[in-house]
Amino acid sequence: MIYPSTFNQDLEFGENAKDRRIGGMVGTGRYENQMILSQKSLRAGFDRHNKERNTGIHEFIHLIDKMDGDTDGVPEILMKNSYTIPWLKMIHREMRRINQHNSDIRPYGATSETEFLAVASEYFFNKPDAFEKKHPQLFKIMSKFFDEKEK
Ligand SMILES: [Zn+2]
Repeated sequence: MIYPSTFNQDLEFGENAKDRRIGGMVGTGRYENQMILSQKSLRAGFDRHNKERNTGIHEFIHLIDKMDGDTDGVPEILMKNSYTIPWLKMIHREMRRINQHNSDIRPYGATSETEFLAVASEYFFNKPDAFEKKHPQLFKIMSKFFDEKEK
């Protein structure tokens, strides 16, 4: 679902809605399996000058993460079981680095495994060259997730 601009927790937008800070979310309840995006935020993510954030990719990754039943940062639908433990080890290490201000991955990625996956994926798709250079191990494993041929 596309809203014209940012919205609040009650999915209200427009000038009279309070706290319109959300640019995108994966719905629950009657909005289960749906993605709600602000058109402004979606467009901004694909602006060629914006290399940091991408709301569309971020929320889409949450939706993929959720396809196995759990939004837990482990996208079973994209990865072989044998990758689960190395992946979790890798992301916990990087989340620690974020918390120690030793990573160029956006701090929001350290809030949970789920957000790590979404934030790292924004970086992976928006700046693949820099991501590969700075995070070769993450780049390698994430390339496997997103490459059909590898499965
Ligand atoms: Zn998120």
